Amino acid sequence: MNQHRTEIDLPESLFGLDELALDMRLISSHRADRVWHRVNPELWAASRNPWAVLKSIGAPELAALGADEAFTEQVRDLVDDRQRRNSDPFWFPQSKAANTLALVAYFSMEFGLSEALPIYAGGLGVLAGDHMKAATDLGVPVVGVGLLYQQGYFRQALDSQGNQHELYPFSDPSEIPVRRLRGADGAWIRIPLEFPGRTVYLRAWEVNVGRLSLYLLDSNDPANDPSDRGITAQLYEADSAVRWEQEMALGFGGWRLLRELGRYPDVCHLNEGHAAFAVLERARWIALEHEVPFDVALTVARAGTVFTTHTPVAAAFDRFDPSFVVSYLSPFAAEMQVSIEDILRLGRADPGDHSEPFNMAYLAIRGASRINGVSRLHGEVSRELFGDLFPRCPIEEVPVGHVTNGVHVPSWDSPAADEVWTNAELRRQWQGVPTPIVDWMEKIPAAELWRMRNRNRERFVLWSRQRLARQFTVAGAGPDRIDEAQRIFDPNILTLGFARRFTEYKRTALLLHDPDRLARILTNADRPVQIAVAGKAHPADGFGKALIQRWYEFSQREDVRSRVAFIADYDLLPAEQLVNGVDVWVNTPRRPWEASGTSGMKVLVNGGLNVSELDGWWAEAYAPQVGWAIGDGREHDDTAQWDAEEADGLYRLLENEIVPMFYARDENGVPDEWMRRVRESMATLTPQFSSERMIREYVENLYAPASFAYRTRLADNCRIAADVQRWRDMIENYWGEVTFGTVHVDPDDKGYAFRILVSLGAIGPEAVQVQLFASAAGQGGPERILMERGDEVVRGTYSYHCRTDGSRPPRDYTPRVIPFHPDASFPLEANRICWYQH
Ligand SMILES: *Cc1c(COP(=O)(O)O)cnc(C)c1O
Repeated sequence: MNQHRTEIDLPESLFGLDELALDMRLISSHRADRVWHRVNPELWAASRNPWAVLKSIGAPELAALGADEAFTEQVRDLVDDRQRRNSDPFWFPQSKAANTLALVAYFSMEFGLSEALPIYAGGLGVLAGDHMKAATDLGVPVVGVGLLYQQGYFRQALDSQGNQHELYPFSDPSEIPVRRLRGADGAWIRIPLEFPGRTVYLRAWEVNVGRLSLYLLDSNDPANDPSDRGITAQLYEADSAVRWEQEMALGFGGWRLLRELGRYPDVCHLNEGHAAFAVLERARWIALEHEVPFDVALTVARAGTVFTTHTPVAAAFDRFDPSFVVSYLSPFAAEMQVSIEDILRLGRADPGDHSEPFNMAYLAIRGASRINGVSRLHGEVSRELFGDLFPRCPIEEVPVGHVTNGVHVPSWDSPAADEVWTNAELRRQWQGVPTPIVDWMEKIPAAELWRMRNRNRERFVLWSRQRLARQFTVAGAGPDRIDEAQRIFDPNILTLGFARRFTEYKRTALLLHDPDRLARILTNADRPVQIAVAGKAHPADGFGKALIQRWYEFSQREDVRSRVAFIADYDLLPAEQLVNGVDVWVNTPRRPWEASGTSGMKVLVNGGLNVSELDGWWAEAYAPQVGWAIGDGREHDDTAQWDAEEADGLYRLLENEIVPMFYARDENGVPDEWMRRVRESMATLTPQFSSERMIREYVENLYAPASFAYRTRLADNCRIAADVQRWRDMIENYWGEVTFGTVHVDPDDKGYAFRILVSLGAIGPEAVQVQLFASAAGQGGPERILMERGDEVVRGTYSYHCRTDGSRPPRDYTPRVIPFHPDASFPLEANRICWYQH
């Protein structure tokens, strides 16, 4: 494969500059920033696209740069640095996980790596981008799989009334940092997909992220029908047929591409259910190569699959009309010698309900062995959401855990914060080398941290002025308005930031509950405050658009317009500027709707503080010494009344605590109480909510055990998988024969002795466990006491016994029979439970 050469003819002194331009890991490097700024400052500022910047200049300019010693030295430093970074083993190769884990395929509908590669809409994509960047930093073998959208997600423009307009600029593959993939024979790789009545070809691309690759597919191949060439044009197509086809391209196409490239992942990570078809395609390969039935192959694939769910509401799962399954997947079912009903049931809660839509999250659950939500609270919410798939199962045992999200710290630090962390020699932390962050933070003088805060704020103010002036110019504002924009904000006053998707649950207008009260806070003569707001509303969300307009109108009020700005077209660059600059990040979702939220984590490294609803990540991060909480940490039904109370709480926090604390200065002009919180938040929260911590958790707790289980099941031509599958079939077919006799409880010297008869019918005693189960009492999980098998009293009927320690009364315990297999997981792979009826 000839991917590592570009067509750019570089002078020798600039060798490697093209590789720098294509590396999405470097996009967030402040040093690389300076290089691209030097090559073409206008285009760099407008596009943040190093590849386009490099291609924008001609041979004479390249030659001039090549003769500029200061510049070539910067380039050489970066090239050397990159080489070191990509060859250093860092964390993973020295971890225990490296003994089993060979390669993770990370499938995601979006990847937010850089504005130069617009294939993301928001939080999910940015998380995927940060996942890749942290994986390369830690040396974890990951390959990303996604789609290349020609138009990506929409870009937002605001007119002079504050109406949102959606724009879909076209990205030309020759101008974005992607390379077309070629096969061993030098020909472009094309992946065929069988759609009803036709074959659709997918083109394949590679994106470089440090030492890792992200592969992308798109359908804009000249061989395709014109109607198929646009399948991958836009992200989150409203048309469900296109959405289905995109998900087939991602899952089936993505796995096929990996095989075409000779990559054999042992773990497949589904970042949200959109990618769940990858499991089916993976099972197909296993079935064909090992000549095993489809259900055995699926049992192998399942062991090596991790599924991360991201939504706290069932309505957000992707669901499709069953007719799609029938028309698109019948050839697949036929090849696998299963009925289409067998495929349909993988996506249904109730396999017998023929009208139930096909749910991609359910398919992902049926195809995974490890499932997680994205914060502790979201784990709990997800266990409720997926409870339907595990009837009779106590909620604590619904097999969904959590890995709290984190952010790629080096991507989100400001130049000033970078200096502080670098001087303190703490940056190795982000490569998995533990550093004494808490000790160092103790030693940094408050005045130095305060200087960093001031630099951050000032840089943000200067950036906002330019950005707003351009925004108003584009919206057709008059010269007075543009002039005002160039003077908006003040680098010395308390700066709040607030940016997110404008949608009902985010309650983006909570601060506007009483606009006059907010205006009084902002315009207080002694202790003024300013606020920057940004965010897009989904094109079909009229409610969200109206909220944008309310903020816009508020920002135009005569009395506050120098203190409030709505920054249009929220994206990675505005996000970076905001989280670098603001003193306080405000987040007001309606609990428990924010699965995790990551934007508040991005302010941590920069010394910003959070004031947020106790939802998502903040529910586990909050402590009084690191920030402020809104709400009471519970859910509420009467939303209007409760919103009013929370708005009042937020105003009071600002009026009585946040603003006074920011302006309470010591003799050197430093807000010492404020800086104590900044220090605490930087020291304790930054590492905890970094993607470095997140990746280590995924590797150690999910990827490595999944890889081990996958290899175990695959060995000996899927011997163990076949055994697990036989066991599952037996459980399904004969579970109805399991019955209890009467339970006998006798007090003994320490506690109670339990005895019971259990008839297992055709199910052998090795295939089950009999337990006493008690729900959690207070802290900790439920209690399960294994009952020991005694004699077979009649054929198929056994006596079981155990003791309890007497700490709880006997009525707390209920005997139950559950399926058991040493290599399988309960209740995920056999969700039967027989409870003793008192
Ligand atoms: C971090 C980020 C998000 C995620 O925002 P949350 O509201 O915290 O989920 C969305 N969009 C962009 C551009 C981001 O950088």
